[in-house]
Amino acid sequence: MKIGVLALQGAFREHILKLQTLGVDAPEVRLPKHLDDLDALIIPGGESTTMGKLAESFGLLEPLKAFTRTKPAWGTCAGLILLANRAVRQKKGGQPLIGGLDITVDRNFFGRQVDSFEADLEASALAEVAQPEDPHGPFHAIFIRAPAVVEVGPGVQVLTRLPENGPIVAVREGRLLGTAFHPELSDDLRFHRYFLSMVQRL
Ligand code: GLN
Repeated sequence: MKIGVLALQGAFREHILKLQTLGVDAPEVRLPKHLDDLDALIIPGGESTTMGKLAESFGLLEPLKAFTRTKPAWGTCAGLILLANRAVRQKKGGQPLIGGLDITVDRNFFGRQVDSFEADLEASALAEVAQPEDPHGPFHAIFIRAPAVVEVGPGVQVLTRLPENGPIVAVREGRLLGTAFHPELSDDLRFHRYFLSMVQRL
C-alpha cells in the first residue's frame, strides 16, 4: 500500500513516520505527478491558508481536488479545514479549499486563549482496528490552534467529540476522514490504523 503525505508545509514528517511504523510506503507529495500511483493521501496539520496558497502556486490544487473526489484522503487539523466544503473565520479574501466533506469548520474555534491543549476523546470508533499493543480506552489527542466542525451534512458520520457533548472533532464521510487534532503527535497508532483499514476496504 502507498499512502502519500502532502509535504508543502506543516507536520508531514510525523505522519510519514507513523505510516512507516505500520509498514506503509509513505512518499512526500509536492507535485501533481507525485499523486499518480497513490492509494490514498494524508493532508497534515500546519496552516491551512499557507498550504492552500502553496498548493495553488505549485499547480496542485486541481489535482488534489481530482484525487480526493475518487480516492481516500485524511485531513488532520489544517488538513481538515482544506477538506471541508465550508470554512468560517477564514483569512480576509477567503482561502483555497479542496473540499469534499459536507461540513462547516470554524478555523480557529478555540481562539487564542487556548492555543493548544490535550484531551481524552471517546474512541469507540477505533475499537475494531485496535491491536493488543495499542492504548486502551480514550484517545489522547493534541490540539494546536485547532479548528472544530460546527455543522455536518446528513451523510457525515461523527466519530468523536470533545468530552461532555463538546464540539465535533472527528468525522468521516465515505472515503474522506477528518480530525481537528494531531494524531501523528500522539503516541497512539489507532487513528492511523483506522485510516489504513478504510483504504483497504474502499
Ligand atoms: N487553525 C489553523 C489553520 O487555520 C490550523 C492549525 C493546525 O493545523 N495546527 O490552518
